[in-house]
Amino acid sequence: MDSIFMKIIRREIPATIEYEDDDVIAIKDINPIAPIHILIIPKKFIPTVNDIAEADAPLIGKLFLVAKRLAADKGVADGGYRLVMNVGKDGGQTVFHLHLHLIAGKKLGHETT
Ligand code: AMP
Repeated sequence: MDSIFMKIIRREIPATIEYEDDDVIAIKDINPIAPIHILIIPKKFIPTVNDIAEADAPLIGKLFLVAKRLAADKGVADGGYRLVMNVGKDGGQTVFHLHLHLIAGKKLGHETT
């Protein structure tokens, strides 16, 4: 299967890469909703949370470790930030390749997106 994020991983379309290793890539969101808006994406193609397998647990955990590291690098770890993973159409998911949103840099309200 393919996705726009697979194309970014393969360098077929451009993106601003904030972090990359063998398992994960993190890019600036093209349509940011806050001064800091980064997408943390597994290189393995997993469409949604519904498709996560038991064996993916370390990879999913790594998304949070990368988010934590980026939050620290960006200087928002102490002040706070939001991590969001939308699931499916009714959950607001528009790109069907699992990704964790790191949103920060402004005071966020109680809404969840
Ligand atoms: P979601 O709605 O949770 O599936 O989030 C998808 C996110 O991907 C949105 O915030 C989009 O702005 C972002 N997005 C879509 N295409 C790109 C792209 N080519 N580069 C960076 N971010 C993108």
